Amino acid sequence: MLRILFYILLGYALYLVIRGFFRKRVPPAARRTGEVETFRDPVCGVYVTAEDAVVGNLDGKRVHFCSMECLEKYRSNLNDTTTRQ
Ligand SMILES: [Zn+2]
Repeated sequence: MLRILFYILLGYALYLVIRGFFRKRVPPAARRTGEVETFRDPVCGVYVTAEDAVVGNLDGKRVHFCSMECLEKYRSNLNDTTTRQ
């Protein structure tokens, strides 16, 4: 009888761990939309929060990107246009 109770508790603990795991996988930006200011990544068009964004200082303007990759891409595009002019 005690063993059955033990297994029930073990199963419940496992359920809590799995539930917590899936809860953490929900992107925080999606849940916070509407509460926190978001910025649009000019390279890929993704919306990022100030907390998650990679901020680049370009021509004195603060531009928000989803990743360093996008920042570098934007920066190289900026350099391309300056060399062409
Ligand atoms: Zn991006």
